[in-house]
Amino acid sequence: MYNIDLSGQVALITGSSRGIGAAIAKQLAAAGASVGINYRSNADAADRVIDQIRAAGGEALRVPGDVSDENAAEAVVKTTADRLGRLDILVNNAGITRDRLLMRMNAADWDEVLTVNLRGTFLPTRFAIPLMVRQRYGRVVNVSSVVGLSGNPGQANYAASKAGQIGLAKAIAREVASRNVTVNAVAPGFIEVDDGGGMTGELNEEQRSQVLSRVPAGRFGSAEDVATAVLYLVSPAASYITGQTITIDGGMTA
Ligand code: NAP
Repeated sequence: MYNIDLSGQVALITGSSRGIGAAIAKQLAAAGASVGINYRSNADAADRVIDQIRAAGGEALRVPGDVSDENAAEAVVKTTADRLGRLDILVNNAGITRDRLLMRMNAADWDEVLTVNLRGTFLPTRFAIPLMVRQRYGRVVNVSSVVGLSGNPGQANYAASKAGQIGLAKAIAREVASRNVTVNAVAPGFIEVDDGGGMTGELNEEQRSQVLSRVPAGRFGSAEDVATAVLYLVSPAASYITGQTITIDGGMTA
């Protein structure tokens, strides 16, 4: 039996004020990591996550900032490392959608999604990797999507950004593997988050049952289903897994 123990480690989870990011932050904190809680605008939501982590005996720090902005991304990474003492784990989770069929998609829809989802993955990684290489240890996980593997109508911008996160992980994995730094991706399917938001919150009843008919497991995934996979990938136990994508979709793309 292998227990995942992250005590003494520091993790930064982007977009962790709610949804999947909040679940990842809570699981990493429960395993002993000190966690940086990042978000762009909703400070109250971030404070609720921090209160929950502290109430459970964990350590959490509020590190607001738009991760697609170069100066902000650098400040988020630096503040986390300075205030919590080091940086071992980066989870690139912040993401948005602006869904439209291609023929109605304009350049602003494209730019916004690619900027937050892909540039917002590149920048924190760019600032975190040198710290990890220097300490000869690190774990990076990009929260991608099954849509990045299979595509989805109405999501050309989102699918491209999510496929991009996978290519980015593979390239960087090859650059830093010899320094004991791993870079992987997870590709969640349809995940239901507690606050009713996230990407499944927008589905009506008919769409929900249509989606469920495509999921062999017969249920939506939970944010915890994703967090558990991330917890494994960021653990010392996963040291020989890099450049990979774990799909968490109840068998939908099997
Ligand atoms: P969510 O509930 O909408 O939460 C998004 C989080 O990202 C919030 O904390 C938000 O903070 C933050 N954020 C957005 N833009 C940001 C920026 N520029 N800089 C910093 N933080 C930013 O999303 P979710 O459903 O949990 O999804 C999380 C990730 O999982 C996304 O990458 C998504 O693509 C992926 N995913 C989700 C599903 C699903 O079914 N839910 C499926 C597959 C993949 P503010 O509120 O303060 O802006």
